[in-house]
Amino acid sequence: MKRIETRLWHGGRPRAFSFTFDDGRYEDYRLVETFNKYGVKGSFHINNPGFLESCGYKVERLVDPDDYKELYVGHEVSCHLLLHPFPKWQPTEAILQECLRNKRFLEERVGYPVRSMSYPFGSFDERVINVLRAAGMEYSRTAVNTYAFGLPEDYMRWDPTCHWSEVEGLVEKFFSPMRYDFLRLFYVWGHSYEFSSEEKWADLERMLGVISGRDDVWYATGIEIYDYMQAVRALKFSTDCTMVYNPSAVPVWFEADREVFVAEPAKVTYIG
Ligand SMILES: [Zn+2]
Repeated sequence: MKRIETRLWHGGRPRAFSFTFDDGRYEDYRLVETFNKYGVKGSFHINNPGFLESCGYKVERLVDPDDYKELYVGHEVSCHLLLHPFPKWQPTEAILQECLRNKRFLEERVGYPVRSMSYPFGSFDERVINVLRAAGMEYSRTAVNTYAFGLPEDYMRWDPTCHWSEVEGLVEKFFSPMRYDFLRLFYVWGHSYEFSSEEKWADLERMLGVISGRDDVWYATGIEIYDYMQAVRALKFSTDCTMVYNPSAVPVWFEADREVFVAEPAKVTYIG
């Protein structure tokens, strides 16, 4: 029997990089343009701005909801709940409303099912997770830095690697040779309003110059990473591992005795 290992990202790459930015502030216009210039991808977690205003909350300058579809094309638009609450301190009924109304608001504008979120104020517990999962959330990013490149056991507790300002300090570790920690993911969070000066934008571009344009890195959104890992777990190998059926909609790269194979969607691949 050959030694089978599913430890490659899309394209057979060993590393992945993903941004996760919150609040949908006006500076997202320039941030997305900058991401596109460097060919990197992100997930943008957004509340309902109209509803915030109608409730009398103070609202900073935000992206116009009519621009979501065009602005964030190629990236992921994702929930951040209706009113930017502390869900841990909310009744179940309120959490459900916060999630479903936010999800629907975003879906009506971007034109695809919205299946993920980040926790406002990083606030959650076991009860919150159960309610949000029932409302259709499949992953949620926390505000706990790991300073590592692993994947979560539970995607409703998806801890990021670090804040964008800390990326450069971890680059050398990220690109170091892999011995045991395969499927490395550099998962970076922030808020676009933190780019409050031209110096900060220059910091961002310098960082992007370091991490972008690498053949060994898959630049992906949060939901692309999540869907890829779901597809990996869904692979159906024969008893002797000489063939594999991929029932999902995305191709999966894997190794058999270090030789790279692709399990194409909805097909059986023979490992000769
Ligand atoms: Zn937020």
